[in-house]
Amino acid sequence: MNDAASQKHFIAVAGVTRIAPVANIRVNAHGGRAKCLQRLIRLGLPVPQTEALDFATVARIADGGSIDTRGILAQFPAGALVSVRPSSGAADWGGPATILNVGMNDDRHADLVAQIGAEGADALYARFIRAYATHVAGLDPDRIGTGDISTLLRNFELAAGEGFPQDPAEQLARVLGAMARAWNRPTARLLRQARNAPDDAGLGLVVQQMALGVGDPGQAESGSGVIQFVSPVDGQPQITGRYLRQSQGREALLADVPALYLTRDPRGPSLEALCPDLFAQLQDYGALCRQRLREEMQIEFTIEHGALHVLDAVRVKRSARAAVQIAVALAADGTIPEAEAVLRVEPRALLDLLHPQVDAKAATPVIGEGIAASPGAATGRLVFDAAVAQRSASDGIPAILVRRETTSGDVQGMHASVGILTGRGGVSSHAAVIARGFGLPCVVGVTDLAIDPEARTLTARDGVCLREGDLVTLDGSTGRVMAGAAPLIEPALDGAFRTLLDWADERRDIGIRANCDTPAEAAIADRFLAEGIGLCRTEHMFFDADRLTVMRKMILAERPGDRLAALERLLPMQRADFTELFRIMAGRPVCIRLLDPPLHEFLPEDPDEIRALAEALAMPASAVERRIAALREINPMLGLRGVRLGIAMPEIYDMQARAIFEAAVDVAPRVTPEVMIPLVSARREVELVSARIDAVAAQVRIETGIAFEYRLGVMVETPRAALRADEIAEYAGFLSFGTNDLTQMTYGLSRDDASRFMPDYVRQGVFPEDPFLRLDLDGVGELLTIGAQRGRAGRADITLSICGEHGGDPEAIAFCRSSGFDYISCSPFRVPVARLAAAHLAI
Ligand code: PEP
Ligand code: MG
Repeated sequence: MNDAASQKHFIAVAGVTRIAPVANIRVNAHGGRAKCLQRLIRLGLPVPQTEALDFATVARIADGGSIDTRGILAQFPAGALVSVRPSSGAADWGGPATILNVGMNDDRHADLVAQIGAEGADALYARFIRAYATHVAGLDPDRIGTGDISTLLRNFELAAGEGFPQDPAEQLARVLGAMARAWNRPTARLLRQARNAPDDAGLGLVVQQMALGVGDPGQAESGSGVIQFVSPVDGQPQITGRYLRQSQGREALLADVPALYLTRDPRGPSLEALCPDLFAQLQDYGALCRQRLREEMQIEFTIEHGALHVLDAVRVKRSARAAVQIAVALAADGTIPEAEAVLRVEPRALLDLLHPQVDAKAATPVIGEGIAASPGAATGRLVFDAAVAQRSASDGIPAILVRRETTSGDVQGMHASVGILTGRGGVSSHAAVIARGFGLPCVVGVTDLAIDPEARTLTARDGVCLREGDLVTLDGSTGRVMAGAAPLIEPALDGAFRTLLDWADERRDIGIRANCDTPAEAAIADRFLAEGIGLCRTEHMFFDADRLTVMRKMILAERPGDRLAALERLLPMQRADFTELFRIMAGRPVCIRLLDPPLHEFLPEDPDEIRALAEALAMPASAVERRIAALREINPMLGLRGVRLGIAMPEIYDMQARAIFEAAVDVAPRVTPEVMIPLVSARREVELVSARIDAVAAQVRIETGIAFEYRLGVMVETPRAALRADEIAEYAGFLSFGTNDLTQMTYGLSRDDASRFMPDYVRQGVFPEDPFLRLDLDGVGELLTIGAQRGRAGRADITLSICGEHGGDPEAIAFCRSSGFDYISCSPFRVPVARLAAAHLAI
């Protein structure tokens, strides 16, 4: 039969197409389920006869249009029961509930009593009455209740005010109408929106002849089940699923029914033992689907009097870990190309693999919710200050550090903690940035919980009050805070994960570096194969107890001689830091940023601490207080930071440059260190700093007798630096765009406080999303483009990169790649995501 003739044959009712190998079934006209059923039919699987209603037809029905259901039913053998299932554009867009056994009525019931016995016939009819009452007539299922068929029919009549429809064509018309209308309900629309479905996403419906699954128990086997051939948890080959004798639909999956094992099992009867031939057939179907549909499928099947029917198949639902394993296994045996395996894994999903997760089945009470700022989950004892966190860690007790907000002084305590919670702040607040660097779970902006650092309590809205020492679990992937210890699932960086990323690296064409401040972070970056360090924030190196006092002495020094003496003492410590980083990165580039934060962040606030510091420095407490007051700034983020500090107190940068160069000549293999100047806004700043750093380099060369190279670059973090990038490029071998500060200054938003109103702004659509979270391609993006173009105009071979928190974001990577950036730099834990995302762009 040619195509045209077959179409004519199969389309008996307008808008309804028989699913057959040559029928014109399209995902964007009939939905994914209809298309998948056609594929199964083409593979020769025993799919019962199915008719597909297209989107336009279903939309017409939803609008009150009629359809010739008698004509549809005439396509099926006389007296056949049918099911109706939704078929939308994508499986996760939802859809109305499937309705089984349409066509069941008193006459059909009587026939079935004779054929399969009263028990089976009653079960089929009862199921249809209940489903129809709930999903079609919109009745409360409690009003139908349980009991024999006549009770159910009576209850239906009482509740609905009319008798249960007996005409199969009328039943089908009402079922189709109800399902078509359900698609347009506000809740269904919201769900679709959340899954990124287009506003005009259509619904198709498939009408399929029932394979009963309920038969005469005295005769051959009847039942239904689902089967899949890989584990949904880790993707390894494993037969999982359930089979329930004398059942229909997905009944076998209900947790409270005693289903059969699928494979032979010493603990009880199995489908394999009961029906070995049918079981073998199912295994063949699974293998066929894998090979020809190039995917691991879950098969829904029914056995009717010993005959196997395949009703449906869907992609196996899978964890991120299983997704990686399945994609790699399919490519490893040649079922799909490697590039396709790379494309099949969503980059952001890799984050789930790198951190422990809260077991989704856990029922630990959630006491508050904030912004998910750094992924992963951890359980620990509540502590309310950094010093207690450090003590707790040294006692071997995992601590969750709770602060209203964190500052540089908390960094050590944060490092000692297993998770961070703050009451204020957004995704680029201090707590969030540091936690991501350390790979620690972090939830910020938890306004649900009242934090009282004096009383050392955390109080939930419902009055539940946790005290220091109580156990809590943080889920930095969802933003949830739980009381007590929730069960956690550990991460797995198995062979498949590595293989997938190797394949990604072979294809990507933009570099990936990591932001690392400590050897521990550099080790993580190394493990995730970062190509270097794109940003080492040196300020975090000064918070160890032994250094902090020296640092404070340096800051508080009134005479240059005293400052130099303190810097002399810091020099070997910094040199050791850099040597360690260079050693770990073994010849890969390391970009070190000169000191950036406002100085007061290093100074104590607590009067006791100030007194102790005065004693340690042999200064009067009043003098220390005066100096601290002088260094306090109203808006420190726009104050004496970055290069401004380098101009005001050049000895600090001299010391850091010397430490970098002395470390560089000390390590093998030799590195070419990159020295980066932060928060630049004018060419002259770079000129001044560059001259001093050159002088230091020259001195170190003379002192050591070793010739070495270094690269000097500028962080573009102020709008002015982007606009004047051409003249700045005269002194800079590279420009690294710090999108955290650039976002802050482009919008005039404070990184630390914007979270107070950001949710309102996003809710009202003022900003599509928090710009600290998603790079604002329109505004900040335009500055990046201008900066990149002008930078290149100033120096053709300039290296361009991005190192703000947006650096690991797939959209930001796409933007940087299209603007010709050389590399992106992101938190070490984001490196795998970035490697995969960059490969997606290049394939
Ligand atoms: C930035 O501003 O984007 C940046 C990377 O620097 P920091 O976050 O340390 O200010
Ligand atoms: Mg910055």
